[in-house]
Amino acid sequence: MGKLAVFSALVLLSVISLEAQQVRLENLQGKTILVFTPHPDDDVFGAGGTIALLNRNRNKIYIVVYTNDDKGSYDPEMNSQRLAQIRRAEQEASEGQLGTPKDNIMWMGYDDGMLEYAAQPKLTEEATAIIRRLRPDVLLSVDPGEWYERWHKSDHRMAAFNTIDAVRAAEFWLYFPNQKLQQHLEPYKVPEMYFFYPSAQEANYFVNIDDVAELKFDAAAKQVSQFEPAVNKYRPDWTAEDLKNAKEEMRKEQTKKDGHYVEAFRYATGFVQY
Ligand SMILES: [Zn+2]
Repeated sequence: MGKLAVFSALVLLSVISLEAQQVRLENLQGKTILVFTPHPDDDVFGAGGTIALLNRNRNKIYIVVYTNDDKGSYDPEMNSQRLAQIRRAEQEASEGQLGTPKDNIMWMGYDDGMLEYAAQPKLTEEATAIIRRLRPDVLLSVDPGEWYERWHKSDHRMAAFNTIDAVRAAEFWLYFPNQKLQQHLEPYKVPEMYFFYPSAQEANYFVNIDDVAELKFDAAAKQVSQFEPAVNKYRPDWTAEDLKNAKEEMRKEQTKKDGHYVEAFRYATGFVQY
């Protein structure tokens, strides 16, 4: 073997071993996973299959819900307090189905649709404290976009940008120094991030969820008030016919790749520096 061939083989080997070192998201075990979600359902729709796989592998999953989702109902009889309670119970049932204990769900309590108008230093400070306290091995959130800002609907865009701002703040102790000085929260650098709801152009990581797809659809169906007919006139349950149709729709809508159900992410190990 010539020198060039030996060199090429060595380069190839090192590339292979590097790839082998990076454990696939769905194969992680015993890690702390922190999920930021704008509403109590985006975590399930965007990453529910992956969350089910991570729970199955005995990771510790925490869900942070920015808003109480207390506006999205067409029912003229509904009110915001009641809707917030309904959505909270649905989220606990939905994440529970995926294996996440309800004690691991944290509610920041902002009003639905109003995240953009919340006091921003406070919003970032709160998310930063959660990151510094839980010190996640992996963070999941809505994709703020890498090369292009991703246009999301209200709350989704603010959750995306606020979370990445908090990731940045968390690693420099001089951001919100009271957290170190008074609460003994040390700075923390989030090593890996997987962003859900990526644009098709920036999605670079796909988790095969074939094994848990039906579980995910069952979990999503626990969010009864988000779907017709309960979104129009609230009822706490489904007729068999409506449930069947809703799940059929979910199967159709779920992202697929090479004939498999997948969840699409943008994987990143840091924030954009410029
Ligand atoms: Zn949402």
